[in-house]
Amino acid sequence: MAVRQATAHINLDAVAHNFDYVKELAPSSRVMAVVKANAYGHGAVQVARKLNAEAYAVSRVSEAVELREAGVTGDICLLEGVMDKEELNLASVYELQVVVHSPYQLSLMKKAGARRPMWIKVDTGMGRLGFSLEQVKGVVSELRKQKVAGYMTHLAEASDPASEVTAEQIAKFQSIPAVQGQVLSIANSAGLVAHPDSRADWVRPGIMLYGATPFDDQEPMVALQPAMTFSAPVIAVHAVRAGDSVGYGGLWTATADTRVAVLAVGYADGYPREIKAGTPVILNGERRTIVGRVSMDMICVELTPSDKTEIGDRAVLWGEGLPVEEIARASDTITYTLLAGVSPRVNRQYRGEVNRG
Ligand SMILES: *Cc1c(COP(=O)(O)O)cnc(C)c1O
Repeated sequence: MAVRQATAHINLDAVAHNFDYVKELAPSSRVMAVVKANAYGHGAVQVARKLNAEAYAVSRVSEAVELREAGVTGDICLLEGVMDKEELNLASVYELQVVVHSPYQLSLMKKAGARRPMWIKVDTGMGRLGFSLEQVKGVVSELRKQKVAGYMTHLAEASDPASEVTAEQIAKFQSIPAVQGQVLSIANSAGLVAHPDSRADWVRPGIMLYGATPFDDQEPMVALQPAMTFSAPVIAVHAVRAGDSVGYGGLWTATADTRVAVLAVGYADGYPREIKAGTPVILNGERRTIVGRVSMDMICVELTPSDKTEIGDRAVLWGEGLPVEEIARASDTITYTLLAGVSPRVNRQYRGEVNRG
């Protein structure tokens, strides 16, 4: 379909490589591959089919249903659990595992006599979802007849390897008498890479499967292969005179006569409007910089006099030759928001796809 369109080329072999790296780092852990948010923009169904993992994690019931309808058979865990009877019913129909993080979910499960395998979420410092350390004992005694898949906690500061909070959270979790000797899951990508003692029975890598760093420094990790190359076609090339401005707000004004290429990609495709002046793209193998504001559907790039840019040439926005980490730094954000933000209107093209069902 539509070749001349903003496109995310997804290399599923890279995802498989990164998955193997996870298993290399944590050989005695089982892997719950996190494919929420359409696998961080990479296509949850395609990624799940490729990995054939023991388990997958998503945030929403609708995400789990999509995977099941596509024939994905591994365990699927709802990281936020279910909110009401309707969702619990779907969890039963589609055979999902549910995280239980709040008392209301506990009574929902009990009232419905639900037999879904449950992950009990414990809050050891994230301050978001989960039972407190004090509550856990009571929860466990209420659970007698239910199937407990395991106990889960989430790390708040693993993206900063220097933070002492991670070690404190791990110690807190392991100190709870009720969870000792049980199936435990602690690590996200950053924990898994930087804190060996967070690996536990199950690891829950997300971002690293897609080849992007989980760490705050936004430096590419050499052990990972980036899975997405985001590109867009040139739809116009024109001359700009010294003193003329380009784009909304006249943010950029040419200081000399020059030329500009217009690319068909903008913030509605997921290219961040917040990028700083001078952010690069790669056009015909060369770095060129964005000038003026990012519009909803377009960005402009300054050309050099010798550039032979033609309509239809593709520019790489991030991916091959231009790490997504670099664009994250240029827009004061993290790899996660860029990858997960690539919008549905962007065409996805797959390499290494496994077709099933
Ligand atoms: C998103 C998420 C993960 C994966 O985190 P990454 O940093 O992408 O590896 C793991 N566990 C939970 C509970 C999550 O919400």
